[in-house]
Amino acid sequence: MTSFADLKLAEPLQRALHEEGYTTPTPIQAGAIPHLLGGRDLLGLAQTGTGKTAAFALPILHHLLTHRRPAPARGARALVLAPTRELAAQIDESFVAYARHMRLSHAVIFGGVGQGRQVEAMRRGVDVLVAAPGRLLDLMGQGHIDLSGLEILVLDEADRMLDMGFVRDIRRIVAQLPRERQTLLFSATMPKSIEELAHSLLRDPATVQVTPPSSTVDRIRQAVMFVEGADKKAATLMLVESPTVVRAVVFTLMKHEANKVAEFLNKNGITAEAIHGNKSQGARERAMAGFRSGAVKVLVATDIAARGIDVDDVSHVFNYDLPNVPESYVHRIGRTARAGRDGWAVSLCDAEQRAWLRDIEKTIGKPIPVVDDHPYHSTAAQNSTMRPPVLGGGGGGRGRGGQPQGGRGGGQRLHGGGGGRSGHARRVA
Ligand code: AMP
Repeated sequence: MTSFADLKLAEPLQRALHEEGYTTPTPIQAGAIPHLLGGRDLLGLAQTGTGKTAAFALPILHHLLTHRRPAPARGARALVLAPTRELAAQIDESFVAYARHMRLSHAVIFGGVGQGRQVEAMRRGVDVLVAAPGRLLDLMGQGHIDLSGLEILVLDEADRMLDMGFVRDIRRIVAQLPRERQTLLFSATMPKSIEELAHSLLRDPATVQVTPPSSTVDRIRQAVMFVEGADKKAATLMLVESPTVVRAVVFTLMKHEANKVAEFLNKNGITAEAIHGNKSQGARERAMAGFRSGAVKVLVATDIAARGIDVDDVSHVFNYDLPNVPESYVHRIGRTARAGRDGWAVSLCDAEQRAWLRDIEKTIGKPIPVVDDHPYHSTAAQNSTMRPPVLGGGGGGRGRGGQPQGGRGGGQRLHGGGGGRSGHARRVA
């Protein structure tokens, strides 16, 4: 088995890894790091939770240690593009952790906050810049950032960046980078659009794949419960009230639904916070800090906001709404069972979303076990042949053609599970 010492990373990095408690490289690290130290381009197929951040951060830091030179003014030696500000901030934190025994100048750039401090941070240039594409392009356009001296480019969660409509921004940024550079692209999924992007950006890349299904996904116990839309809030409350739920992420399709679910849980004595694109950066950070500390038991999130949730002990993921894109299901459930732990992913499926469940099962290549020994079981939802609702809009602002779900009114207290087990039913929480 490969060790970090076998990977021949510079001594200050080995020491930092030892202090972080990392003993063995993860598969993506063992697979990618030798290629990257050799200067090759890389296509990494790996999702969050696999250790992919260190897989690119360590070789970048090794390069900085072994090729010492000052950062170019208003520029960077390495650039990591990430889809969300939360993820960008976490990547930056990882760099800082691994670089604790070396000098590192670094900056993070994302929208939603004033640009003054970001411009100032970039004035003298940095070794490592982590950025969301929109704001970076904006600052490049204003002349505050010049990446003509860049040495290494990383696109992290490239599939998400494309989903979020960043492809043109990415191409405009890349057009301003030197051709002679090392390029790394990480993606959890490999749709045609990613293949094309990889083909146009990478030169003779090494490919390292650790998904799907990754060992993480294998450790997640999955279940689906068929319920009426109107029962979803009550069913969610029943699930999160279980004593086995330590920290849970509840996914909704729409922002306003996320707010309503969080409000309902709070009214019923469960601390919950909604995070989505309409919340300010400060509000999102407060919610994440509360979730990390345990003060907040449940985060209610939309898909895009959830990209940056990097908390290792999420015990349960609940899909209040199924996602309409099957790949999102894999992304969502990957929030649990991280860092070697087990996790549960339980989905609530109503009649409208029944067709999406079939698509998801096709994508993951197996049926999701049904749990029906609960008070809200709906055979109508289970047997539904309804066409799925048409979702309008792109990016974060998905609107749903169907009816908003009613719930049973606030404040209602609900009894827990029970009833006889039957067939293939399993207790979930
Ligand atoms: P990532 O996939 O980059 O989000 O990493 C997932 C989690 O695994 C993070 O909390 C990392 O700190 C942790 N991690 C990454 N590499 C290792 C390793 N080799 N040993 C132990 N933990 C790791």
